[in-house]
Amino acid sequence: MIIVDEEKIFKEIRLKKPASVSLNGPDGILPQIQQTALNITKEFGIPAYVLADTTWGTCDLNSNAGKILGTGIQFNIGHTINTDSIEKNVVLIDAFDDIKFDDIAKKFGKMFVGKTIGLVTDSQHLNQMKKVEEILKNNGVKVKIGKGGGQLNDGQVFGCEFYPATKLKEEVSAYVFLGQSNFHASGIALSTNLPTYVLDPYFNEIREVTEFSQKLKKKATLAIYKAAEANSFGIIVGLKEGQLSKLFGLKFKKELEKEGKTVQLFALTDITNERLNNLKGIDAFIQVACPRISTDNQFDKPVLSSPQANALLKVLRNENIEEYLEIPHWL
Ligand code: SF4
Repeated sequence: MIIVDEEKIFKEIRLKKPASVSLNGPDGILPQIQQTALNITKEFGIPAYVLADTTWGTCDLNSNAGKILGTGIQFNIGHTINTDSIEKNVVLIDAFDDIKFDDIAKKFGKMFVGKTIGLVTDSQHLNQMKKVEEILKNNGVKVKIGKGGGQLNDGQVFGCEFYPATKLKEEVSAYVFLGQSNFHASGIALSTNLPTYVLDPYFNEIREVTEFSQKLKKKATLAIYKAAEANSFGIIVGLKEGQLSKLFGLKFKKELEKEGKTVQLFALTDITNERLNNLKGIDAFIQVACPRISTDNQFDKPVLSSPQANALLKVLRNENIEEYLEIPHWL
């Protein structure tokens, strides 16, 4: 069950006495957020709006919604990072899953005695790291937890940022991801090129995601080579507050024009196949918003992320593109 740190929310409300608040968080924990909103209204008698649009990460807080509604505080829940606030009136609130990894960790320990692994996880399972480390060590596995970096805590990864994993690349033979997210685990496998296992306590299952990751890479590489045949490019700048990378977009425009391509600039909040199909005269797109939009979604035309676009420029210059995803941050 997901436990939201309501104590911290209540403390903030008592301190700042807002006339109304808004709350948001990842889709998977919206039911808990709804309950927290009800609890706030019951405790303080103030309106509590659940912002039901997506918030994929701290890059996508949707703080504009709080401004439009005029709420005194926006609580962004579940994107645990190493700071409490990124912008004024937005307070980041932890939410942890209380599921136990004991059985699945013991099972993994028995299968991988003597191996050295890097332990990694997402925001919701950071609270379990130390416990699992201990269980694995007691079962003969050597465990390393990489230091955090940027917004990341020790051992934490985002879908596009993998510093605690990549820092250990030379020291471990595989990674173990705590949770259920093939999305995060496949990013680790791709950015390190090492075997990666998911310890899923819900299904009591150990899943290797290495093959799944290779399929993602194959698709991403194919899109690069298809884009290399394009003449006209659309460069899309993302309009979500933490995904705005105008400089990268303009850099790619300049580089592609040097290669004789025509380039038009676009800006979008949600980059979907349907929205792109409205745009005419474009053979391929580069989006500099969220890299996983390109690697994990299906599009009719090539839609490259920043690391893919860097690889594209190399292809156009007859350079080698091996290891183009093996970087700690896909921007
Ligand atoms: S993967 Fe996308 S949504 Fe997640 S943190 Fe990175 S840019 Fe944001």
